[in-house]
Amino acid sequence: MNECDSYKQYLNQHGMKSTKQRNLLLLILKKIQEPQTAEKLYLIAKETDSSINLSTVYRVLEKFTEKKITIRTSFLDDKSVYSLYPKTHQHQLICLRCKKIVLLENCPLEAFQHSVEKSTDFSIVNHRLELYGYCRQCQKIIAAN
Ligand SMILES: [Zn+2]
Ligand SMILES: [Zn+2]
Repeated sequence: MNECDSYKQYLNQHGMKSTKQRNLLLLILKKIQEPQTAEKLYLIAKETDSSINLSTVYRVLEKFTEKKITIRTSFLDDKSVYSLYPKTHQHQLICLRCKKIVLLENCPLEAFQHSVEKSTDFSIVNHRLELYGYCRQCQKIIAAN
């Protein structure tokens, strides 16, 4: 299976048709690994496809997020970054100063989720939790100022 076919299949699995621009963004997200802003993804995409524009990139990313292909992480200043949806359940620790994102391996909410299910009769399928703060380096910089 060539790369293009595998994207097509991947998009189809998520209920989306493959297009040149969707495939390209998927390829970029897979390559860079780290969460990026739409603007940054647009600049990278433009190197391959000069016809792509920023609003298309936004549209594709919104659709990807809706279909759980990507996950959008919002900073408190309204900037968002996008990355591929994690294969396993994860939580993010986000530095507000340098925008570093650290993944937490353990979920602290499982017991809580079970107790909420019991008390509300909900069947909970997912939850999101992001922790915001300052990394060690940024704490030092802030303390020095
Ligand atoms: Zn930091
Ligand atoms: Zn969790």
